[in-house]
Amino acid sequence: MNIAVVGLSHRTAPVEVREKLSISDDHIEESFKSLKSNDQVLEVSILSTCNRLEIYALVKNQELGVSAIKSFLSNHSGLNKDDLYPHLFNFNQSEAVNHLMSVAGGLDSLVLGEGQILSQVKKMVRLGQEHQSIGPIFNRLLTQAVSTGKRVRSETNLGTGAVSISSAAVELAQLKLGQSQGKDQLMSLESEKVVVVGAGRMSRLLLQHLQSKGCSELTLINRTLSRAETLSADFPNLNVKCDLLDSLDKCLESSSLLFTSTASESPIINAERLKKFKRSTILRLIDIGVPRNISADVAEVSGFEAHDVDDLQEVVARNQDARQQIALEAQALIDEESKSFLEWWASLEAVPTINRLRSGLESIRKEELQKALSRMGPDFSARERKVVEALSKGIINKILHTPVTNLRAPQPSEQRKESLKIIEALFNLSLEEEN
Ligand code: NAP
Repeated sequence: MNIAVVGLSHRTAPVEVREKLSISDDHIEESFKSLKSNDQVLEVSILSTCNRLEIYALVKNQELGVSAIKSFLSNHSGLNKDDLYPHLFNFNQSEAVNHLMSVAGGLDSLVLGEGQILSQVKKMVRLGQEHQSIGPIFNRLLTQAVSTGKRVRSETNLGTGAVSISSAAVELAQLKLGQSQGKDQLMSLESEKVVVVGAGRMSRLLLQHLQSKGCSELTLINRTLSRAETLSADFPNLNVKCDLLDSLDKCLESSSLLFTSTASESPIINAERLKKFKRSTILRLIDIGVPRNISADVAEVSGFEAHDVDDLQEVVARNQDARQQIALEAQALIDEESKSFLEWWASLEAVPTINRLRSGLESIRKEELQKALSRMGPDFSARERKVVEALSKGIINKILHTPVTNLRAPQPSEQRKESLKIIEALFNLSLEEEN
């Protein structure tokens, strides 16, 4: 059995490839079915976020399992192997475990230490449980990844500073505004006419950061008006005008900065839509949707300047140095958690022998107890029988305690195998005997 992860992320694939791989909630069930139907896959779960799609699996054979997952990704995305495989990464065993812990800790995120990834890893645990695709090993692995993510955020400063894709998007808007005025610095958004399209989690974060960067009023448009109104009610100090998505054209005509963060599976803004506007000033469009909310062809329309999630690298790189130092502290913690999981997993190797040893001793205990009780005759009260039975169980447990602890303790695999062999020989525990 091997642990493998196959996937792609902002590190290995541009947004135009990532968006083809993203698995929406509507398609998650069929994806689990397809993965589970492969006999190489013993346990599996899916991490699907805007910046990554990763399939974690416990596979029978590493090579065959990884190849099955790659084929699944190719079928799911509709991309042929030549176009997809160069963007995929694959880690096995300890590297796969370490990668998962790093992802949960936010160390592999575009915005180092961002918090959304932890909820997405939690979602991966929930999905695996709901689709009954994870067993004892992945339950332990995935829940340990969640606790590692929490530890990174509580024991280091990596999560502080309210970092997220949304905060980077707002910073990009500030930077581009500065650059348009010939300054390489973040400008206040005070005088911008801002529109946010979408009223979900990312838009909430956009509103928070916009407010903290000097924006005092904005338009919030959404497919469902009531959701935009509910969101705006949480920002009493921000003058938010809510409207329906139908008012998008009006916004494209009159605003100066527009963010899109909807979960639409196809673009809501394309070149054709923009061509009808004759703008005298630039409208800056910043799209954090994956799949993208703004199609790539808008680059050819004058009067508009569009950026997608991959363009956030520019602001992220500016903040990275200080955070890299903190990331080193987090890495030590991640290594510790990965080691502890791997030790637990290795210790499972001893379980079949321990179970056979326990059941062998239990048979002896029962047999000898029966003999003793029948020798005592009917005068032996029920209470006395219970005391003797408890005594016999206590002796067995005490005898087993030290060898079981030693067998499960962290140690080189060869050493454990040697001890197991000795115990099996001494107690006659071979599988053939048992069967
Ligand atoms: P969310 O909380 O589920 O909110 C989804 C929003 O999209 C809602 O406003 C919804 O409108 C709107 N929407 C859904 N389908 C639509 C459609 N067909 N046409 C127009 N609007 C539609 O999602 P989120 O977490 O904020 O994510 C939004 C986008 O940001 C996604 O593309 C996601 O991949 C990307 N993103 C997310 C994260 C993250 O960590 N969550 C990070 C970076 C980027 P209704 O209210 O009418 O349903």
